[in-house]
Amino acid sequence: MSEKPVSSGGAPATSAAESMETIVSLAKRRGIIFPSSEIYGGLNGFFDYGPLGAEIKRNIRNAWWQDMVHRRDDIVGLETSIIMHPKVWEASGHVEGFTDPMVDCKVSKQRFRADQLFFSPVVVTAEDGTTSTVAYVSALEGDDTAGELQKKAEELKRKKAIRGTLVPVMAKDITEAAPEEIPLIPSPATGEPGSLTPPRAFNLMFSTHVGALADASSVAYLRPETAQGMFVDFKSVVDTGRVKLPFGIAQVGKSFRNEITPRNFIFRSREFEQMEMEYFIHPDADWFACHESWLQWCQDWLVSIGIPREQLSLHEHPKEKLAFYSRRTVDIMFKYPFGVQELWGIAARSDYDLKQHAKHSGKPMEMFDEATKQKFVPHVIEPAVGVDRILLAVLVSAYYEDVVEGEKRTVLRLHPRIAPYKVGVFPLLKNKPQLVERAQALYKRLKRRWNVFYDEAGAIGRRYRRQDEIGTPWCVTIDFDTVEKDGTFTIRDRDTLQQKRISEAELIAFLDEKVD
Ligand code: ATP
Repeated sequence: MSEKPVSSGGAPATSAAESMETIVSLAKRRGIIFPSSEIYGGLNGFFDYGPLGAEIKRNIRNAWWQDMVHRRDDIVGLETSIIMHPKVWEASGHVEGFTDPMVDCKVSKQRFRADQLFFSPVVVTAEDGTTSTVAYVSALEGDDTAGELQKKAEELKRKKAIRGTLVPVMAKDITEAAPEEIPLIPSPATGEPGSLTPPRAFNLMFSTHVGALADASSVAYLRPETAQGMFVDFKSVVDTGRVKLPFGIAQVGKSFRNEITPRNFIFRSREFEQMEMEYFIHPDADWFACHESWLQWCQDWLVSIGIPREQLSLHEHPKEKLAFYSRRTVDIMFKYPFGVQELWGIAARSDYDLKQHAKHSGKPMEMFDEATKQKFVPHVIEPAVGVDRILLAVLVSAYYEDVVEGEKRTVLRLHPRIAPYKVGVFPLLKNKPQLVERAQALYKRLKRRWNVFYDEAGAIGRRYRRQDEIGTPWCVTIDFDTVEKDGTFTIRDRDTLQQKRISEAELIAFLDEKVD
């Protein structure tokens, strides 16, 4: 019954396209993620989580809430409405400024995010040393945009039999183009110049109407972030919650952004879930140290749920690109198969949000300092992360292929806290009632505390493989020794493939320690 790994482990898939495809197809095959409204052709930027995906997502959310709220004394939770008073979004600056630059292609009717559309003049140096721009090339942001532009420039040179040496391509995004350059830049959709519009600001908020009248007075927005709920309810929490500085307010919930180009599976979608926390500190407190400590906490937390530290890196936003009120923003980046991208943003936002809401609502957002007998507005540090981006990072990190007993095995090495099922329970043979009864009794007992899976169909090896592919960390098998001898059963470890005998009490103590 014991399995012999030829190579226990193996490396996570490395080729970007290949491993993204692998993840997408596994997600579909095993009911983790499906396109939304698939029977009607899907809706771009929207996804459904299937039975296993819903469990994984819930486990991520619960682990965060447990560690961020329940296991700390300085953070409380909150759940605010998705549609809030429209003035919230005026005060926060979203109505005015929550925009991305957008470019339309008039021929294909496709839209592009201008800061993701790169272009370059094709400059040729003739033998006499004179240079001239002979055409333009364009490419969408990818792993190697400069390489792609260079390739296109060389192709063009060959096709048009242009003489001279190509000057190395310098990629600029289209927001940096001079107005006279726009008509010369080819559309990535058609490959021809002349159809792109100049970039214009596109507001990412979805709007709707509240009530029976659909006029300007009833316009409201689906929230593009959960954070504003914490600022708007700040006073209510302070007045009712017996909180003392420094303290945080945390929230998990859906956010909506009408992204111009949703892409990379669930990485950038139009409906997603955020886990945000606003940590309020005294204006005189050492905000930098506080920011640093949250940066550390967030990285450690990602590692604690199974994301390898070496896949993480930091990106410090340059000072000149920060909003005027922001003191510092650092993103925790993850090495996704399509490139290193933002996973978690940690921002030091000063007292801007509270002051804006005080100004727009006319309600003070202050606390009282007993020592100085003065009122003050706290400053805030904000770690903001998307559940869907964590889930994608978790799947990418957990996916392995190896060979066990001569057969290719797909295994999701999910952390026990995140795995949809914690244990697979099998009777060795399904036609032996005493084994089935004992296995079902164990299954029912475990099910009261953990999500566990019962399987009696097929050979044991096949049952193991099914659990390996959905990330179940352990499988237990009830055999004749269990019912005829000492009550112990075998437990098999997904990653080491090792098996040992264990009693029911030992199994429960083991799960207590490893899962919770
Ligand atoms: P990006 O630059 O990738 O658009 P952002 O800087 O606008 O992200 P924030 O407003 O800081 O993102 O949102 C906090 C977190 O919410 C992000 O770090 C990310 O994990 C998640 N998030 C933001 N937009 C999306 C989206 N469209 N789809 C999925 N997750 C998202």
